[in-house]
Amino acid sequence: MPLESLDASDFTETLLALRNHLEQMARWGCRGFDCSPASLALLQEWSRPPAENVKAPAHSPKETPLPSTGETLEDIRSDLGECRRCGLSAGRTHIVFGEGSPDAELVFVGEGPGFEEDRSGRPFVGPAGELLARIIEAMKLTREKVYICNVVKCRPPENRNPEPAEIQACRPFLQRQVAALRPKVICALGTFAAQTLLDTPQAISALRGHFHDLNGIKVMPTFHPSYLLRHPEYKREVWADMKKVMALLRIPL
Ligand code: SF4
Repeated sequence: MPLESLDASDFTETLLALRNHLEQMARWGCRGFDCSPASLALLQEWSRPPAENVKAPAHSPKETPLPSTGETLEDIRSDLGECRRCGLSAGRTHIVFGEGSPDAELVFVGEGPGFEEDRSGRPFVGPAGELLARIIEAMKLTREKVYICNVVKCRPPENRNPEPAEIQACRPFLQRQVAALRPKVICALGTFAAQTLLDTPQAISALRGHFHDLNGIKVMPTFHPSYLLRHPEYKREVWADMKKVMALLRIPL
């Protein structure tokens, strides 16, 4: 639509959508754009509608769902390959990509694989995984109905925290998984999942308990099951968070 034909509310909505888009690009690591004539001509070609009378859906910017990238989880796993993009590759036995339903409405994102996960190549199969399975069951769901993955796909040595450079190297794959899955809700388990997904330095204790927006996807940060194993007194808070997720997914208590 030509700029001069936009009315004030269209213009404001367009600016808001543009700002949201630029903020999301910045969160994904974009630091600039190629505005060469050749690139602009190519983009003009790509943006041509396939047919006449194609109308954009009338969502408000906050409700705009994450656009499909057309990638499948298999495409992303295949691109990851035998990844050596960060130092965690040196000590791993298996890459733990993630598992569950590609149609999941609920995705759990943890921090990184532990000893059992590294051995098996599956996420959340150790003691913390057993607790997560019980939480999922209490939510009247099953592991097969949700999707489970981690911020980093290889085990940090001695289960130490992943370092910023390791998170940075692995983060694009998590973002592509989220874009491929496009769930209604992501449950961010622990500090690293919440801070990575929401691109914030805030502590999990400040983030948990309410929904945050990730490009139209609701994100509920809560305590990691490993933390609950050490501090069972916080189970009540996690269950309160999960009940909010259930309500959003319209799962009766
Ligand atoms: S943690 Fe991620 S980026 Fe690092 S080697 Fe493993 S798969 Fe690659």
